[in-house]
Amino acid sequence: MTLSKSKYIQALQCHKALWLNKHRPELKGEYDGNRLDVIKSGNTIGELAKDLFPGGEEIEFNRDDFKGMLSKTKDLVAEGKDVIYEATFSEKGIFAMADILVRNEDKWDIYEVKGSTSVKDVHVDDAAVQWYALSKVLELNNAYIVHVNNEYVRKGDLDVHALFTIENITEDVLAKQEEIPKQLKEMETVLDGKMPEIKIGKHCSNPYECDFSDFCWKDVPYPSVFNISYAMGKQWSLYEQGIVKIEDIPDDFYFGPNASLQIKHHHSQEIKIDKSEIKEFLDTIEYPINFFDFETFQNVVPRFDGQRPYAQMPFQYSLHILHEDGRLEHKEFLGDENCDPRRPLAQQMLKDLTPRGSIAAFSQGFEKGQIRRLAEFVDDISEELLDLTERFVDIAHPFQQKNYYHPGFNGRYSIKVVLPTLFPNDDELDYKKLGSVQNGGDAMDTFANLYLLKDVCKRDQIRKDLLAYCRLDTLAMVRIWEKLHTFL
Ligand code: SF4
Repeated sequence: MTLSKSKYIQALQCHKALWLNKHRPELKGEYDGNRLDVIKSGNTIGELAKDLFPGGEEIEFNRDDFKGMLSKTKDLVAEGKDVIYEATFSEKGIFAMADILVRNEDKWDIYEVKGSTSVKDVHVDDAAVQWYALSKVLELNNAYIVHVNNEYVRKGDLDVHALFTIENITEDVLAKQEEIPKQLKEMETVLDGKMPEIKIGKHCSNPYECDFSDFCWKDVPYPSVFNISYAMGKQWSLYEQGIVKIEDIPDDFYFGPNASLQIKHHHSQEIKIDKSEIKEFLDTIEYPINFFDFETFQNVVPRFDGQRPYAQMPFQYSLHILHEDGRLEHKEFLGDENCDPRRPLAQQMLKDLTPRGSIAAFSQGFEKGQIRRLAEFVDDISEELLDLTERFVDIAHPFQQKNYYHPGFNGRYSIKVVLPTLFPNDDELDYKKLGSVQNGGDAMDTFANLYLLKDVCKRDQIRKDLLAYCRLDTLAMVRIWEKLHTFL
């Protein structure tokens, strides 16, 4: 048996996943067709990390010629090459590619490159199995994880030495060597046998979301004990007792106040409306009301000065202004994908928002946080920006505080849950009726990579889709605000 490193890691998470992968690969979850597939990602972390050890030779990946990859690696080692990228080995039942292999006098160091901002347990397992295989043919010195340094702030040219942090994990890797052959033996037995009887559990999403969740979780109804909000892991003790449906939760089982309310309304299917609290909240909102929403993107590798890896970068907003006479205006901003959008966005935002009146957001913490970060970056207008944060009201408040609770919320109160529950079958407010951008994740990924798209027509269409998506977020807030008045 030869396992790839990734299959070994999958098997550590769950033997059943390893078995399914080999014997029933067709049961893997479907690819989400809504996600945009038109844009290739930019410079990968792996490519950039090679600059930490320049002058190396790369083993090109060729799925039709693994033998060629293995023999080229051997040749480079024999020739005395000092740095090899994607060095490929198949030893002791493991097929592995080392991201960067560096000669260290007469031994070798292994560098595994990760896009995370810290070393995770799974990275140690990953490097450990790599070490296990490579140690058969090479004398190894140290194992390192190269990960992203999220304290790095770009200034001018990219500084790869500052972008990455290198951590020595040799001790942890050596500590795992004894268990690996035992694990491999067990995995071999699993693959040769029947499908292991492994129940669903926390391991289904730890460390990775399992490919076979659709299959293993198919008998779990919606909603179930796993949809109880603020359950703090207690749902697993119910599951262990064979309780999956919310209606089967014993009366004396206490999750906490939020979950109890959710369970009570699930049973009764009644809507809770606290008129006086809702009125008190609505009375705090002043005209003209600025319904406001940001979209942000993230880059692992900062593209602009003053940007950190993974920093949330606002690039777009939508603004519906409701005047006291009932007039509804719409304004919007969508940054140029080729430039840092923060300054033009901040300047336009200050012009578009009315000088007085409330600024309404849904879960205001996000918008206020973005404005505070903008104020640090565009410091010549920071005072004006910070003043805006004083005017915010949170349209999510009555839902978060359970002043209004609908059993259809199933314990949640995001706009994507509240809106279709309050307005079922309303095409104007249906995110699924939008184009290629239907949620914040789509918007984030799309804009982050939009500058790489060469097709101008496609790019223009995507920009229209981004505008339509963000516009719906603020229109939704207007409609929710109107709806709240009808409850009084
Ligand atoms: S969904 Fe859970 S139980 Fe099923 S294979 Fe994956 S990890 Fe194992």
